Amino acid sequence: MKQEANTIVNILKKKKLRVTPQRFAVYANLLHRTDHPTAEQILNDLNKDAPTSSQATVYSALQALRQVGLVREVLLEPGICRYDANIEAHHHFRCRCCGVIEDLPWETFESININGLRQGIKAERYEVIVEGICDRC
Ligand SMILES: [Zn+2]
Ligand SMILES: [Zn+2]
Repeated sequence: MKQEANTIVNILKKKKLRVTPQRFAVYANLLHRTDHPTAEQILNDLNKDAPTSSQATVYSALQALRQVGLVREVLLEPGICRYDANIEAHHHFRCRCCGVIEDLPWETFESININGLRQGIKAERYEVIVEGICDRC
């Protein structure tokens, strides 16, 4: 655990982020989960141990982490912003029954060819969103 804490502190420092307890807690929380939580879910989770976090501090920690590229926003449902500490290129699956979101490895869709885009569009990033029904539903 101590080792992991050091690793997290080093990652934040490498990105030239001042290490605050909130940034540390939010990033550690996101690294431990793969469910793409909302800011509110992170807040609830953090406050389970000790009710020290506010919505504002969680949001500002998320924005700081996002700006340096450690966390990305995932927008799969209208109006709902989720967060992901997996910053490797990957796709997402979303179950339309239970709402579970799962990472799909980039290689899943090896054959996507973006060269077919019309001229003039400079693609910077893209990802596939698969919607359907998961094993449990
Ligand atoms: Zn499901
Ligand atoms: Zn993801």
